[in-house]
Amino acid sequence: MGFKVTFNSERCKGCEICIASCPKKILAFDKAHLNRSGIHPAMIVNMDECIGCGNCGMMCPDAVITIEKVED
Ligand code: SF4
Ligand code: SF4
Repeated sequence: MGFKVTFNSERCKGCEICIASCPKKILAFDKAHLNRSGIHPAMIVNMDECIGCGNCGMMCPDAVITIEKVED
C-alpha cells in the first residue's frame, strides 16, 4: 500500500502551509514551473516516503491537494 498525492497546481497560491505541515518534509515548491498566477506551485518530491497522514490536504486553505491510497 502506498499513497499518491496530487496538486491542482493552477489553484496553488504558494502560501507554503502544506510544505510546513508535512512530517516527512517531502513537499517543496516546483521551481521549474509557474502557474497562471505566476506562482511556483507546491509539489511532492518523494512520493515513496509519503505516509498518507493527510496533513497537507487538511491544511491547504484552497483544497489544492488530493491524497489517495494506491495498491502495490
Ligand atoms: S500526506 Fe502527510 S506525509 Fe504525505 S505529503 Fe501530505 S503531509 Fe506529507
Ligand atoms: S497549502 Fe495549498 S495553496 Fe498553500 S502552497 Fe500548499 S498547495 Fe499551495
